[in-house]
Amino acid sequence: MAAPVAPAAAEISALFVSDLHLDPSQPQVTAQFLELLAGRARRAPALYVLGDLFEAWLGDDDPCPDYQPVIAAFRALADAGVALYFMHGNRDFLLGERFAAATGGTLLADPTIATCDGRRMLLTHGDALCTDDLGYQKLRGIVRDPDWQARFLALKLAARRTLVSEARAASREHTANPYSMLMDVNQDAVAAAFRGADVDLMIHGHTHRPAVHSFKLDGRVRTRAVLGDWHRRGSCIELSSTGPELLTLERA
Ligand code: MN
Repeated sequence: MAAPVAPAAAEISALFVSDLHLDPSQPQVTAQFLELLAGRARRAPALYVLGDLFEAWLGDDDPCPDYQPVIAAFRALADAGVALYFMHGNRDFLLGERFAAATGGTLLADPTIATCDGRRMLLTHGDALCTDDLGYQKLRGIVRDPDWQARFLALKLAARRTLVSEARAASREHTANPYSMLMDVNQDAVAAAFRGADVDLMIHGHTHRPAVHSFKLDGRVRTRAVLGDWHRRGSCIELSSTGPELLTLERA
């Protein structure tokens, strides 16, 4: 009989991040994310970016020199053999195939059912679960419409930039109102998503309320793992056979 050995650390099957909101005005966030891409991300066979990677994305034709180091770092990660997946958030829903090709990654629909180590799970940005925010859901319906997106992308870059900065200014005014802060998910929408996908694990971001919630639904223990944003510190989830582990990454 083999001698007992100390249990090895569970092997990571995937790493998840979201809500980095990368912005040229916050270079410390980009620097910390580049560190993750060069370090921790290489220990997992797959990296999933579940939306709001960028604070704004005007279209893949925007040369945005500030983001070139990030794109190059994704490419290096993909070249090192890490499978890369991107999901749209409510900020960067115009990330397209040209971006995906430049990084060596794949765009995922929202929601997506993924399988890691034989475990099925539901991946989503999370905004679609915030059904109590009726005003937001109406806006989401408009900007996710392919015709609206095609019309927006047909505008010159300068015009798109103006429209986006106006929308951001309006949204800052909106969030100054305490009654319209980023809402949390609606529990009925969460239950419907678990039932619809027939999974016991869901991973999402968007709400900026990092936590791992476990609860019983239809007699099964369901786990909803929520990624944090990168505003003051980093956040990621490592998935292994022991389940999702939410990690806080302090910034030096
Ligand atoms: Mn979001």
